[in-house]
Amino acid sequence: MIRAFVVGHPIAHSRSPLIHGHWLAAFGIDGRYERIDVAPSAFPAFLRDLREQGLAGGNVTIPHKEAAFALVDVLTPRAARIGAVNTLFFSEDGRLTGDNTDAPGFIAHLDQSLGRDWPSRGDGSAVVLGAGGAARAIVVGLLERGIARVAVANRTPERALGLVALDPARVRAIAWDELPAALAPAGLLVNTTSLGMAGHPPLVLDVAALGSEAAVADIVYAPLETPLLAAARARGLDAVDGLGMLLHQAVPGFARWFGRTPSVTPALRERILADLAPS
Ligand code: NAP
Repeated sequence: MIRAFVVGHPIAHSRSPLIHGHWLAAFGIDGRYERIDVAPSAFPAFLRDLREQGLAGGNVTIPHKEAAFALVDVLTPRAARIGAVNTLFFSEDGRLTGDNTDAPGFIAHLDQSLGRDWPSRGDGSAVVLGAGGAARAIVVGLLERGIARVAVANRTPERALGLVALDPARVRAIAWDELPAALAPAGLLVNTTSLGMAGHPPLVLDVAALGSEAAVADIVYAPLETPLLAAARARGLDAVDGLGMLLHQAVPGFARWFGRTPSVTPALRERILADLAPS
């Protein structure tokens, strides 16, 4: 039996076992995907002993993404650029390899939701709210996918400057009060902050500043329909929710560990939505 995992601390909230369990059942694979709670002090030993524990690889979540980045034998170029690892697998020569699938996961969801020509909407630029770990992966994904320019607005300006360093010719940091001017020509707005998430403050932003071609994406998925997405829809703009990123980022890991490439289907989405619904 092939075994994979998601490791975090805490980990009880993770939906990853549901996603991978759905695909294992769909393919009829003799495999298991389990939650493993590991405290930060025990994480290096956990990684060192993966093989002995019979694990083929797995996902890494909060608070271990940066530690995994530092501890693996080899990084994929994308993980090296993002500075964090969310997927572990063994290379053919047996080296523990760290990848980051948040970027392709976000982009795959945009492609599926908007069609592949979304980078040419508006003047080809995107506005990203937030500069945390998810924002870094998303900016890398947008740059790789060919978006012309990215403007990053963040509460803590120094963190936004860290994203500018990814590609100073195409990424700039802007102040929150510069948003209306940046939004007017943009083809895409992405919220990567935790604002709008259940239990967090709301995101206060007027989508009236956006052009009529623009799409709005929110990576918060609890609630699924954030006030930002509702406002975008009310204006007749395309709105892209956060659940798709969570589902699509799981695809490359499953393919590595279990040898089959799964699809993100409406049935999978419904299954996770049912689990997210308040009981
Ligand atoms: P993070 O590294 O902690 O970054 C949090 C971001 O939110 C930072 O830019 C932070 O600004 C901003 N922020 C937090 N509270 C704020 C406030 N009161 N006012 C203004 N800005 C505030 O977290 P992350 O890993 O990037 O995750 C961010 C969000 O994305 C979370 O809601 C997470 O659940 C979601 N997420 C979704 C997916 C998915 O698959 N859909 C994947 C990853 C993350 P400062 O820099 O100023 O603190």
